[in-house]
Parts: sequence; structure tokens; C-alpha cells
Amino acid sequence: MSTRAEEQIRADIVEAGRRLYARGLVASNDGNITARLDDQRLIATPKSVSKGFMSPDMMVVVDYNGQKISGDRDASSELPMHLEIYRNRPDINAVVHAHPPTATGFAVAGIPLTRAVLAEVVTTLGSIPIAEYGTPSTAELPEAVRKYIKAHDGMLLANHGAVTCGTTVINALFKMETLEHFARISLVARLLGRENLLSREEVEKLQGLRGMYGIASPAPVCADPAEAELDQVL
Ligand SMILES: [Zn+2]
Repeated sequence: MSTRAEEQIRADIVEAGRRLYARGLVASNDGNITARLDDQRLIATPKSVSKGFMSPDMMVVVDYNGQKISGDRDASSELPMHLEIYRNRPDINAVVHAHPPTATGFAVAGIPLTRAVLAEVVTTLGSIPIAEYGTPSTAELPEAVRKYIKAHDGMLLANHGAVTCGTTVINALFKMETLEHFARISLVARLLGRENLLSREEVEKLQGLRGMYGIASPAPVCADPAEAELDQVL
């Protein structure tokens, strides 16, 4: 990879961190972002730094076993979760982990975002499951994420937050924004007492449009309207 391309990735990570913080999707030093540099190296945000105030030189370069190659700081303690995602998804190049408040509220309540209610979300993310709780920074979290990551580009982490992946840093960031936006809309609809679901035919039509938008996610299927009746109701 050229120096120029690496510079762009560092700049994109700084910008993604700034937006995560500005939009309130992380607080304090929360969250972490990684991206592939090549098939040997990843670039990762440093630990104990606010993601809203990073500079390109703060990043840490690591290998796919999590060993540091270069950088003055240490990579995030959630790096093993990111590594697990790269191992299972050769098609993606970036991972974003944040604590978006409304989506994390669903993760705390144990309510997955699996209902087909928004056309945009069906085409970009599909259904959003909840990975079982794992103590942060331990092997439990990568294990919980492994179960869903092959079929989902975004998921909630029980009693913790959310993680998304994408073809670029900005693509993974946008999925995190969409996930939180979807959670907020779902919360309002549930407070209003009604969610009109898209029909199965419409969901299939939307999933068929993914290729047209250049979305290469492995086609997670949204909950059937009938199945959604069995969901927990707020
Ligand atoms: Zn976290």
C-alpha cells in the first residue's frame, strides 16, 4: 500500500472518530476504529484517548495477531473483537465500535432490531441481532461476535454497545450512524404504540436492490412480519 493510501486511511479514522464523538455515539475515551492496511497489517485507534480529538500520528499499526508493529501508543483493548471480525469477513476493510445511546438501550433491554420497518435499513444493514454479553477486553466478546458476524454488518453487544463493519472506514461509520438512527426511529414508533412492518414481498424486493447499490453484505434476512409478533414488545 502506498504512503498516500495509508495517509488517507489515517485521516479517515481521525474524521470518523470526530463524527462519532460529535454525534454522541461515544463518550469520554469510548469506542475504537480499525482498518486494513494490507494482508499483514491493520491500523487501530489508540487506547485511553478520546476518539473526538485524535491526530493521524496517534494510530497504532498491528498485525493480524494483535502484535504491535509501530506507533508510540498501545492499541485499544477491544482489538481482539476487531481481529475476529477480519478473520471471518475477508470482504470488509474497516470496523467501528461505539456506544450509541439508543441502540445500546435496546442492547440493554435485550430487544434486537430485527423488524423490517425501514426500506433503507433493509438494503444497507438487514436485521440487527444482539451478540450475547461478554466482559469487555476478554475473549468472551470476540466469541459472542463470531456467531453473527458472517451474516451481519452491524450488531448490538448486550449491555455494552454496538459494532459495524464495512468496505471503508467511512462506510463502517455510516452503518453505525444508520444503526443508531434506526434505533431512535424504532423507539419512537414503539412509544407511539404501533409498527407497521414491510411485507415479505417488499423485503425481498429491497434485498434484491442491494447489488444495484453496490452493497456486498451477505444478505441477512429481516424478520418476517408474522415472526415479529413473537418479538418482545416494548
Ligand atoms: Zn465498548
